[in-house]
Amino acid sequence: MDGGSTRHLGLDLGATNLKWAVVEHAGDEWRTLATGQVPTDGHLGPDAVIGRLGDTGAAAMAAWPRVVSVGIGLPGLYDPAAGTVRFLPNVPGDWAGRPMAGPVATRLGVPAFLINDARAFGLAELRLGAARGASSMVGLTLGTGVGCVIAIGGHVYQGHDGTGGEGGHQTIDPDGPLCGCGNRGCVEAFARADRIAEACGTATAEEAVARAREGDAPARDGLARAGRYLGIGIANLVVVLTPDVVVIGGGISAAGDLLFEPIRAELRRRVHITDLDRVRLVAAELGTWAGAIGAAVHGAERAAELPA
Ligand SMILES: [Zn+2]
Repeated sequence: MDGGSTRHLGLDLGATNLKWAVVEHAGDEWRTLATGQVPTDGHLGPDAVIGRLGDTGAAAMAAWPRVVSVGIGLPGLYDPAAGTVRFLPNVPGDWAGRPMAGPVATRLGVPAFLINDARAFGLAELRLGAARGASSMVGLTLGTGVGCVIAIGGHVYQGHDGTGGEGGHQTIDPDGPLCGCGNRGCVEAFARADRIAEACGTATAEEAVARAREGDAPARDGLARAGRYLGIGIANLVVVLTPDVVVIGGGISAAGDLLFEPIRAELRRRVHITDLDRVRLVAAELGTWAGAIGAAVHGAERAAELPA
């Protein structure tokens, strides 16, 4: 890219690691210039974590000059207008009402914007990953929880407070297991990592995937069961949205066809009102960096809306 391009920083605040990415943007083209990570050290408390966001951003901007905006992805709820945190269940400390965008913007000297990490994942895949060029998309990110994101008309749908598209919390079984959100029988209550491990008879979801790949029957059955519930949830979203593409990411998506085949089977069983040949089901492309890259894209797109 040439002198017409701009550079943008993304910070992805995870429970364990704080990841960053610098992306370059020109016209419809986005590319990732650099990525990295440091420990979050959430036990040090919110002030230290916000300080580390600033330190990490400053180091990335020193190595990659000319950054003009920053986006911050966070695993929880926030107030988009105030730039404050509302709820961060997996990072210790009292986060409610704590300013995050403001202190980081002041420290880095560029505008800062918050985005939920699942929405950041989807935005990254939509602009420079597996859903590139799509108008409408459903994205799921499978990990500790089941993150979900939808895009319509080429834009990630945020809802009025950044919580739009939480398809992981749609009810699949009215009397199903309790979900962390307080409801029973959500997709997430069946397909989050610990429930998959439980269904597969393994200690972790990673072990479940490894065993299933080796042909272990209980692990294969457990993954097929999780895939079935995911497939029902995705079928509901496909019927509602008729997306161009469904993108599946997150650590557990490494199971590949052991998970994708039961999802496809469920789609064939349940979706009859639209042509499934026009709905691509694909694996995410950006891996562990999608959240940081998507946060950078969000910051760029929000900064572009600011008055000059
Ligand atoms: Zn739920």
